[in-house]
Amino acid sequence: MRYLTGFSGSSGIALITRRQKFFFTDSRYRLQAKSQVKGCQIRIVPGAPLEGCARYAVSRRLKLGVLGYEAGRVTHQQFLLLRRILKGVKLKDAGGSVEKLRLVKSRSEQMNIRRACRIADAALARLRRRRTIGTSEKETAWFLESEMRKAGSGRLPFEIIVASGPRSAMPHGAATKRIIKEGELLVIDMGASVNGYCSDITRTFATGPLPGRLDQIYQIVREAQQLALGRVVPGLPGSEPDRLARDHIKGAGYGREFGHSLGHGVGLEPHEGPSLAASSADRLEAGMVVTVEPGIYLEGSGGVRIEDTVLVGSHGPVLLTSFPRRLIQLR
Ligand code: ZN
Ligand code: ZN
Repeated sequence: MRYLTGFSGSSGIALITRRQKFFFTDSRYRLQAKSQVKGCQIRIVPGAPLEGCARYAVSRRLKLGVLGYEAGRVTHQQFLLLRRILKGVKLKDAGGSVEKLRLVKSRSEQMNIRRACRIADAALARLRRRRTIGTSEKETAWFLESEMRKAGSGRLPFEIIVASGPRSAMPHGAATKRIIKEGELLVIDMGASVNGYCSDITRTFATGPLPGRLDQIYQIVREAQQLALGRVVPGLPGSEPDRLARDHIKGAGYGREFGHSLGHGVGLEPHEGPSLAASSADRLEAGMVVTVEPGIYLEGSGGVRIEDTVLVGSHGPVLLTSFPRRLIQLR
């Protein structure tokens, strides 16, 4: 909805026919719709916009033959409502059609993502100058969140992951009250947003010298990422960078400790197409923005993930997040 109409509020319905574009919302969003929605006839309806939209279509005889809706976004209750009001209209799942349009980012979309990346980079740089050992994961997460918000980020696209010590072996360990100790791994995964567009970056830090094996897995993940980045080029399938990173990690003996896929698209949502995975059917095109995020997770001792947001440039990958990728020690 935001992509097609510009509306960023939470209550609205876009209805697009061959000839007309409508936007339905309730009176709370009248002014916001007026200032944000472009190229649509705005209709303020009492109650739920979906019902208002369906009733409008019937009363104005829009002659809908087939109505595409987003099955992944419409609840079953809403579907029943549509079926009840729109008698004789064929309802068809059109999910994924707008997502396809969103795969390749325009200049201005790229600019927003770039800015969101810079905000995340800057917050990590500030973390380096601060004492982390002895603070809790939650305090660290809040520090990063407040730095990003002060630097102009909108709502964070997802809750910041701060996972220290053995907890870093959880790929998505939400921050807890655990106090960060000396000589362990610390995984931080976060992003900012600018005009709705997200960034996504993960860095794994050390808090002092590490046991040899943890140091070793860091180097393996870093090499895997470097190899994969070299294949983020237009024309290649999304499975190709995943294969390279996975083969490298497997070859080092940690294939089973890299359970998730290599990466995903980034845009208005922190996770969208294309997919960088073994099973991906997507093909990379110039203007797509993806993450490259291999990891190794050792239960009981710790994990490493390195993630960057990358633009598929016409001549190859352009890293949009630029915080150093070598292992950095926090104090
Ligand atoms: Zn991430
Ligand atoms: Zn990610």
